[in-house]
Amino acid sequence: PRVKEAPPVLAPRRPTRQIKVGSVGVGSESPVSVQSMTTTPTTDINATLQQIAELTASGCDIVRVACPSQDDADVLHIIAKKSQIPVIADIHFQPKYVFTAIEAGCAAVRVNPGNIRKFDDQVKEIARAANDHGTSIRIGVNAGSLDKRIMDKYGKATPEALVESAVWEASLFEEHDFHDFKISVKHNDPVVMVRAYELLAEKGDWPLHLGVTEAGPAFQGTIKSATAFGALLSQGIGDTIRVSLSAPPVEEVKVGLQILQSLNLRERKLEIVSCPSCGRAQVDVYTLAEQVTAGLEGMSVPLRVAVMGCVVNGPGEAREADLGVASGNGKGQIFVRGEVIKTVPEHDIVATLIEEANRLAAEMGEV
Ligand code: SF4
Repeated sequence: PRVKEAPPVLAPRRPTRQIKVGSVGVGSESPVSVQSMTTTPTTDINATLQQIAELTASGCDIVRVACPSQDDADVLHIIAKKSQIPVIADIHFQPKYVFTAIEAGCAAVRVNPGNIRKFDDQVKEIARAANDHGTSIRIGVNAGSLDKRIMDKYGKATPEALVESAVWEASLFEEHDFHDFKISVKHNDPVVMVRAYELLAEKGDWPLHLGVTEAGPAFQGTIKSATAFGALLSQGIGDTIRVSLSAPPVEEVKVGLQILQSLNLRERKLEIVSCPSCGRAQVDVYTLAEQVTAGLEGMSVPLRVAVMGCVVNGPGEAREADLGVASGNGKGQIFVRGEVIKTVPEHDIVATLIEEANRLAAEMGEV
């Protein structure tokens, strides 16, 4: 059989050590994974599992759940057992929940050492418990909760401050011969964040979890994350990503996957190539593109569909795509794999594209 050539990427991955988050490998030997975090109270087991199921269906690889109280810690074993994807317990302030989460079968625990008092004394025990259970750790340094010592030294959360904190915290685990951890150094400013990860990447071979923290509502957060992750991933930096949006977590996964697909770090799925429209357009391109996108939502095969407003670039793009339309004069020329298969009246363009897309998808194995 013909081997499909891998699509080009902007840079090879930065070599890192490899860790496991449950069944998902994190490091340069594994594809960049996509994470999100549940927004339900963790104690509401059914709602949390329901949200995890939705995240799984949307393509999320790893899910994080907050563990702010003993009650949350107490239900982790159920959630870890029933979730279809690896669960990371997110723990601030309370080292004792780290042990509960490890024993509960969580795939990993995120600790924020700046927020865990007397952390130094406990690292040894955490390392031992994590080692015994095959649990990995994320050292999650965050601009908003830097250690006081570091804040006193730098005055604010500069890239150097974030990195010094991360390297110090990594050394606490490494002193106890524990290496199954990844690191994040999040900041809400993409410029600071990118610089912090670049510096951190020079200092060790730890796998890195990328995130712009508190990135904002969907529009702003998407742009901030895409810009920052793009800058890093295009240098090969980043092994797992979480887009943080003030929006439902499924949206974070969609954005994360789209970023990876755009950089050829994931196979592209449905791709709508639509023109921006201009004074030459002879059809309402926005509505057409929106209706086609809505009609094909959830399609999981790599299909490129061109929706073009006129005959200038229309036939060329439509011919390059798997499927396309070039509109003009109240009609649409429908292209399938480069050939015009028919011309339909404008009001039939959407239905025809959807029908042809489904036919092609079925040929490609879409169920
Ligand atoms: Fe304008 Fe036609 Fe290009 Fe669309 S395809 S942007 S309508 S020239």
